[in-house]
Amino acid sequence: MGEIQIGGLVSFTTIDYPGKLSAVLFLMGCPIRCAYCSNPHLLPVGSGEYDPELVFDWLRSRVGKLEAVVFSGGEALMQGDATIEYMRRVRELGFAIGLHTNGFYPETLRRASELIDWIGLDFKATREKYPDLTGQSIAYDNMIRSLDVWLATGRDFEVRITCDPRYVNRADLLEIANILHARGVKKVAIQKYIPHFEDADSATTSAQRNQFFDDDQLRSQIDSMFTSVIWRE
Ligand code: SF4
Repeated sequence: MGEIQIGGLVSFTTIDYPGKLSAVLFLMGCPIRCAYCSNPHLLPVGSGEYDPELVFDWLRSRVGKLEAVVFSGGEALMQGDATIEYMRRVRELGFAIGLHTNGFYPETLRRASELIDWIGLDFKATREKYPDLTGQSIAYDNMIRSLDVWLATGRDFEVRITCDPRYVNRADLLEIANILHARGVKKVAIQKYIPHFEDADSATTSAQRNQFFDDDQLRSQIDSMFTSVIWRE
């Protein structure tokens, strides 16, 4: 097992783990290539610029001040056992463990699941459009398997849908909401697409980006399907 590769760190946040003061670790490596990725420097499986032992010492100094540590990326589970072992150590400090994941590694999620208290899972598009958006033909099926792995734990989570109008339209969003509703998902977050400055194609208008958020009929329909819907603009 190699050493975990950490490419970024947020030392304090109130928005990355529901209801808990958190730090976020951004791990190196991601198996997919979303058109709107805002962390392109994290995509290669390369050396992280943060020494994991120094980060661990710093986390130890935050015991009693922070409540949770969120593993993000990149895709945090791409580093497999290195991530799991680091999660175990961080959990032993007394922190709740959060995970932001694209769901590409359902078996790793299953192995890590006893260590994780909450996840935010990306549901990026319909099955038909996933390959165009992510550059990966199996990303959708893996994500659904991860959803089912997590549902089986009975633990809290949120499914996030980023509404990039190049890949998600109104009908797609309703289709995704129906799939999630049918699987018993309770909490979703509908996220506005914000073009990244390195985005290959940022030629979307604000009206296109806002369409989901300005559509009262769509909003109330989706609101009625879940216990919690956060519209993140
Ligand atoms: S899953 Fe996240 S880190 Fe990976 S390419 Fe997509 S947006 Fe970027």
